[in-house]
Amino acid sequence: MTLSKDAILNELRKVNDPELHRDLVTLNMVKNVAYCDGAASITIELTTPACPLKDQIRSDIEKTLKAAFGDTLKQINIDFTAQVRASPQEKARGENPLPGVKHIIAIGAGKGGVGKSTIAVNVAVGLAREGATVGLLDGDIYGPSLPTLLGLDNLHARTESANMISPFAVHGIKAMTIGKLVEPEKPLIWRGPMAHGAFRQLATQTAWGELDYLIIDLPPGTGDVPLTMSQILPLTGAVVVCTPQKVAQDDARRAVRMFQQLDIEVLGVVENMSYFIGDDGKEYDIFGRGGAETMAQQMAVPFLGAVPINMKLRENSDAGNPTANFEDKGKLAAELAAVARNLAGQVSVMSMAGAFVQPTISIS
Ligand code: ADP
Repeated sequence: MTLSKDAILNELRKVNDPELHRDLVTLNMVKNVAYCDGAASITIELTTPACPLKDQIRSDIEKTLKAAFGDTLKQINIDFTAQVRASPQEKARGENPLPGVKHIIAIGAGKGGVGKSTIAVNVAVGLAREGATVGLLDGDIYGPSLPTLLGLDNLHARTESANMISPFAVHGIKAMTIGKLVEPEKPLIWRGPMAHGAFRQLATQTAWGELDYLIIDLPPGTGDVPLTMSQILPLTGAVVVCTPQKVAQDDARRAVRMFQQLDIEVLGVVENMSYFIGDDGKEYDIFGRGGAETMAQQMAVPFLGAVPINMKLRENSDAGNPTANFEDKGKLAAELAAVARNLAGQVSVMSMAGAFVQPTISIS
């Protein structure tokens, strides 16, 4: 076959997105094709810089082009760009108080202590390390943990303008927590309307600027804050963190149902403290590994991954240094990055699936 820009583009029509099962050209993912002297340059646009399918798309393109053109094509350069699209569902919902934010994702749990805040922090830092612009809002106004988890102790909140506060810029993300705006140690007792007001102010009066993702760490359980959140923010979806035990699953199932009830898409379940790897290298299923995954299957929601019990994760969390998790030489970095990538993938699938919804009119 003669090599030309058009011939290459035609071949790209044979390469499918691995998850959406449509070809890259139809999906409008091919942004540029150039050909000169045996070398092809291709630019593929993804919906997120953290797309987990990058490597597979790259190798599928290479295979297809090599099969078509053989040795006449000497060099294939594939670049990826990212354009995080807002889903149509989001655009459809009334006034958006955070127009600069493409995706708002809440992280919830059926009960406290399952590692919800830890997962929220590491998902935020993980997405940022993949190249996305990320904000993290401590929506746990009753027991904020971001001051500790992000090491904010020596930082002071600053105002950006008369009624806007600057987020803290730490670990490659922008973060805000009520824990830095009130006296430490003071118990935070908010009743319905006060909780509503506190959450609204934190979410909408922080100068987030342009963000690909705003991650919200919710309080545990099914209280006032998720309700307020669903009323004022156009969410892309929610993630439920769960440990494997039966009792934890029951609570998590309730959290899943709460989000579904509030018309918030459940993007997936993360199984935290899934198992433990001993010094002998053996894996111990302390809490009954796989329990949360089974729950996700039963509820027909995606499973985003399992994070084992890891002492370094606990130490780095207590030290307020999540960046260290990603610089870890062992498996920790890969395990946390996988959860962030799976979540980004799920967000892409949702926004692209939404893009296929064609408007229809019926005439009677
Ligand atoms: P939650 O937000 O659900 O209340 P946290 O994220 O505050 O839970 O986690 C509770 C405690 O468990 C923290 O000390 C945290 O460092 C620790 N922790 C969470 N996940 C893990 C894990 N996978 N391995 C080890 N320690 C963990």
